[in-house]
Amino acid sequence: MKVVHTIAEIRTAVGTASREGKTVGLVPTMGYFHEGHLSLMRQAKADNDLVVVSLFVNPTQFGPNEDFRNYPRDLERDAAMAESVGVDLIFNPSPEEMYPEGYSTYVSVEKLTEGLCGASRPGHFKGVTTVCLKLFNIVQADRAYFGRKDYQQFKVIERMVKDLDLPLEIVGMPIVREVDGLAMSSRNSYLSAAERSSALVLSRSLAHAQELLAGGVVNGEELQRKVEAFIGKEPLVQVEYASVVDAESLEPLADISSKAVLALAVRIGKTRLLDNALLEIPAQ
Ligand code: AMP
Repeated sequence: MKVVHTIAEIRTAVGTASREGKTVGLVPTMGYFHEGHLSLMRQAKADNDLVVVSLFVNPTQFGPNEDFRNYPRDLERDAAMAESVGVDLIFNPSPEEMYPEGYSTYVSVEKLTEGLCGASRPGHFKGVTTVCLKLFNIVQADRAYFGRKDYQQFKVIERMVKDLDLPLEIVGMPIVREVDGLAMSSRNSYLSAAERSSALVLSRSLAHAQELLAGGVVNGEELQRKVEAFIGKEPLVQVEYASVVDAESLEPLADISSKAVLALAVRIGKTRLLDNALLEIPAQ
């Protein structure tokens, strides 16, 4: 496995493989790997001849008071983990390589980015779509892999690829969890022991919602209120949103009769965590 830092180097390496007729899979990440990241890499390895992992803490997707500076970074550890699952290349550019002086071009997806995380993190998705579009253009992969843990991000990227006729397939992957149910996240490393145990309320509230739905709570707002109350019982946890939305449009759902997602964002101390689940509509 090779770690490269410049656009020229990654283009040369991927170009050589493509000319040999190899298919290329890309896994965009911000690093500090866990099993969630590795599951994407393993799938990319199974589907493609060459696997590229981009490792870039993207400044344009962080707000001014967010954790860009403190975001956990450990290239050596990440490289060893990526190598262990058969990754061929890590692309680890500097911010200046991606956004040289005078950089002025951004792409944004409308509608899908307005609610959920878009409402509380203005500009976040514009940063995400811009960096992903750049990565897609740089790497020219056949497929790119995204986790459904960041469900809105996955739908936004799918939309951008469709709308801009980008020649690659977006593959969505299931959420990987710790044995006790907490969705894996690089940001879990910020949690104290007490916060880590409070964080279990996220996955528990998803299971609770499923039970409420099975018990006949099919009104989106009512389910939302009940989930918020359930999470609210955990003193260290502040709910940012607990929203029942249509799985495709991400619009709030009044009646849970079509494909619905319950999306959660909470703050635990200084840490912001996400989780979500597709709601199973009980058989009539
Ligand atoms: P990040 O490094 O947090 O930006 O994540 C890189 C990719 O890994 C994104 O597509 C995430 O959705 C995905 N990912 C992060 N955590 C998980 C998880 N627990 N399960 C599945 N995919 C994940």
